[in-house]
Amino acid sequence: MPRSLTDFVPLSRSLTRWQRHALTAGLGFMGLTIAVLVAAVVVGAGDSPFAGWLRTWGTSACYMVAAAVVAFRAWVLPLTRGPWITIAVGTSIYGLGNVVWELWLGKLDNPPIPSLADGLWLSLYPAAYLGILWLVRTEWQHVKVTVWIDGLIAGLGVAAIGSAIVFPRVLETASGDTVAVVTNLAYPVCDLLLAALVTGVFAIRGWRPGRVWALLGAGFLSLTLADSIYLLQVAAGNFESTNVANIFFLAGVSLIAVAAWQPQSGAVRPKLESWSVFLVPSMFVAAAVVLLAFEQFDDLAATVRPLCLLTIIAGFGRTVMSFRDLRTLAETRALALTDDLTGLPNRRHFMQRLGTVIDEAEAENATCALLLIDVDQFKELNDTLGHAAGDELLRQLGPRLRSALRTSDTLARLGGDEFGIVIPFPTSEDAARGVADKVHVSLADPFSIQGLRLQVNVSIGISLFPDHGRRDLELLRFADVALYDAKRTRSRSAVYDQSRDTHSREHLTLANELKEALTRGALNVHFQPKADATTGQILGLEALARWDHPSRGPITPCTFVPVAEHSGLSRDLTTRVLNLALEQCSVWRRAGYDLHVAVNVTVADLVDIDFPEQIAGALARHRLPPEALVIEITEGSVLSDPERTRGILSQLKEAGVGLSLDDFGTGYSSLTHLRALPVDEVKIDRSFVREMATETKDRAIVLATIRLAETLGIRVVAEGVEDEETWQRLAAADCHLIQGYVLSRPVPAADVHALLAAPVVGDRV
Ligand code: C2E
Ligand code: CA
Ligand code: CA
Repeated sequence: MPRSLTDFVPLSRSLTRWQRHALTAGLGFMGLTIAVLVAAVVVGAGDSPFAGWLRTWGTSACYMVAAAVVAFRAWVLPLTRGPWITIAVGTSIYGLGNVVWELWLGKLDNPPIPSLADGLWLSLYPAAYLGILWLVRTEWQHVKVTVWIDGLIAGLGVAAIGSAIVFPRVLETASGDTVAVVTNLAYPVCDLLLAALVTGVFAIRGWRPGRVWALLGAGFLSLTLADSIYLLQVAAGNFESTNVANIFFLAGVSLIAVAAWQPQSGAVRPKLESWSVFLVPSMFVAAAVVLLAFEQFDDLAATVRPLCLLTIIAGFGRTVMSFRDLRTLAETRALALTDDLTGLPNRRHFMQRLGTVIDEAEAENATCALLLIDVDQFKELNDTLGHAAGDELLRQLGPRLRSALRTSDTLARLGGDEFGIVIPFPTSEDAARGVADKVHVSLADPFSIQGLRLQVNVSIGISLFPDHGRRDLELLRFADVALYDAKRTRSRSAVYDQSRDTHSREHLTLANELKEALTRGALNVHFQPKADATTGQILGLEALARWDHPSRGPITPCTFVPVAEHSGLSRDLTTRVLNLALEQCSVWRRAGYDLHVAVNVTVADLVDIDFPEQIAGALARHRLPPEALVIEITEGSVLSDPERTRGILSQLKEAGVGLSLDDFGTGYSSLTHLRALPVDEVKIDRSFVREMATETKDRAIVLATIRLAETLGIRVVAEGVEDEETWQRLAAADCHLIQGYVLSRPVPAADVHALLAAPVVGDRV
C-alpha cells in the first residue's frame, strides 16, 4: 500500500491542502465503489437491489468523477494540458451516455439501435485516439521513422489478431437490420483500434511504457474488455449491464484517472545498436503469417487478410530500414575519429596519426615524441563528486591541454582519464620535457567543477622515436612505463628509461618473496610513539611494517605495501602486523603502561565483511579492551566502496575500537570525509606539518584542521613533526598529539621500553 497520496499519484505533490483533499475524495470514491461492487459479487449479493443501484448510478457517478479528476489535472498542471482535457471530455460524454441509458433508453421495452446513448458512448473513441496521439506527439518530437513503423507493425498485428478472434463471434450472434449490425460492430472495431494504438505506443516506447502509459494502457484495455463482455451479452439479447462488465468499466476509468496524475517519464529511446530491435516486430509479422496460413482453411473475418498483409509489408520495410541503419551505424563507428565526450580525436585517430608521424620521421631521419597523460586521483574525484563531475573535468581539460600545444601536435583522449600527444617535429628529449612542463603550467589555475574550485594535476610519461622504439605500439607501451614511473616517484613527468623497465619483472619477484616472507613470519613491525603535544607523555604507538629482505636488505613499506595491494597480500599483511602489534600492546599494558597501538589498514581490509570479527577475535585472544587498538584508514581506502566500508567502520566503532583518518588533507574532499566518517582521530599529513614553519598556507591548513576537529570533537594528531619549533607551534595551537622524528623514529619493540621509561619531556608551551 502506498503510504501517502503522493506515492500513488506523484503529481499531487504540488497541490494545496484543499486541492489534495478534493483529489483524495475523488480517487477514494472510485476505489470504494469498485471495492463494494467486488465485495457484493464475492459474497453473492450481486443480484441485490443495492448492487443494481451501484451498477447503474455508482458507475455513472464514477465516470463523472474520473472525468473531473482528469480535468482537474489539466486545470492545475500546465504540462500536456491538451491531451488530458480531451480524455476528460471523452470520459464525461461516455458517462453521460450511461445516464441517458439509465434514465430513459434502458427503461424502454425495445431500445432503438442506434440510440442517443450509442452516439455518446462511441464519442469516447475519437477523444481517446486524439488524446493518445496528442500525448505521443508531445513526448516524441524526434522519434525515428523505424520506431514509428514498429508502432505501426504492433498496432496492425494486434488489429489482425484481434479481428480474427472477436469479429466472428460478434457477427455470429448479430441480428437485426444492417444499421443495428453496423452499430454493434462499431464497438469492437473502435476497441480494436484503441488496443492497436496503445500497443503501438508501447512498441514505440521500446516496451518500457513508463507509469503514465502503463496505467493508461491498462485503463483502455480494461474498458475494451468490459465492452467485449457487454457486447457479447447484447448480441445474446441481454441489455442489462452485468457486475463483471461493470467492474472492468470502473477499473478502466479509475486507471485512466490515476494515469493522469503520474509524471511523464520522458521519451525512452529504443536501442538501435543491437539485433534485438527485430525481435518484437518479427513476432507480429510471424503471427500475421500464421493467421494468413490459417485463413486458407477457415474463413476468418474480412479484415484479417488485409491487416495481415499490411503487417507483413510494414515488417518487411522495417527490416530493410533496420539493416540499412545497422550498416550505417557500423560504418560511422568505424570511421568515427572523435571522442564523444571531449570532441578531441579518439584513440583510433591517435594511432593513425602516430603511424603517419613515425613514417614521416623514419623517411626524413628525424625524431618524434609521444606523451601519455594521466589525471592524478581521477578515480577519487569520480567517486566523491560523481561521474558528471568527472566528465565535466575531462571536457574542460581538453582546451587547457590544447592551449599548451602547437597546431601540428595531436592531442587525443585515449580513454578514461588518459590523454595522448604526438609531437611530430624533430624532437629531443629536452624538447619533449619542455612540452610536458607547458602542459603542467596550463593546469596551474584551478578548474571550476560544479561550483567547486579544483586543483588538478596530471602525470606524464614520455617516449621517443627512434631512441626508445620504432613502432607505434612499442612507443605507446614505453610511454606507459614512463607514466607509471612518474606516478610511482611522484615526479610529474618521466621519460622512458630502459634500466627501470625491469621494474615490472621485479615487481613480480617481489610479490612472490613478500608472500613467502608473510608465510614464514619474516615480516616485522617497528613502533613510533604518539605523544601528548603539551606534556610529551606517550599515549600510544603506531605499528609500522618492516621487511628485512634476505638479499636486498630493508625494504620500505612505501615499496612493499603497494606490492602487497597489487598481489592480494594486504589482508595477510594486516593480520601479521595486527597480531604483532596487539601482542606488544598487551606486554606493555601488563607492565603498567596504559597505551594503545595503531595499525594501518588498506582497502582490502575495509571491504572484507569479516574484518570486524577478526579484530574482535584478535583483541579477545590478547585479552585487550577495544580501546587499546586504533585502526588507521586513509581517504583513498574508503573511496573504492564507500557504502560497504562505512558499514564496516560503524561496526568497528560500535565495538569500541578507535578509528583514525590518516594522511589528512591529501585527498580531494577531506573535509567532507571528516564529517561523514565515524572517526575519533585525524592525522594531519606530514607534508603540511613539515612546511608549517615556512609556508603560511600550510600553517593555515594545519590550524584550520585543528579548529574544525575541535568543533567535531575529534582528536588531532600532527604527524612528521621533526623539530622542536614545529612541536611548540602545534602545542600552542592546541594540537592534541604529535608524532615524528622529534620524539623518536620508528623503533623495534625492544627499544620502546627505554622510550617509555624516559622522563616525560615536560611542558613545551
Ligand atoms: P604513514 O601511515 O603515514 O606512516 C608514517 C610514516 O611516516 C612512516 O613511514 C614513518 O616512519 C614516517 N615518519 C614518522 N615520523 C616522521 C618524520 O618526522 N619525518 C618524516 N619524514 N617521516 C616520518 P614508513 O614506516 O616508511 O611507512 C610509510 C607508509 O607505509 C605509512 O605511512 C603507511 O601508509 C604505510 N605502512 C606502513 N606500515 C604499514 C602496515 O603495516 N600496513 C599498511 N597497510 N600500511 C603500512
Ligand atoms: Ca599511518
Ligand atoms: Ca600518515
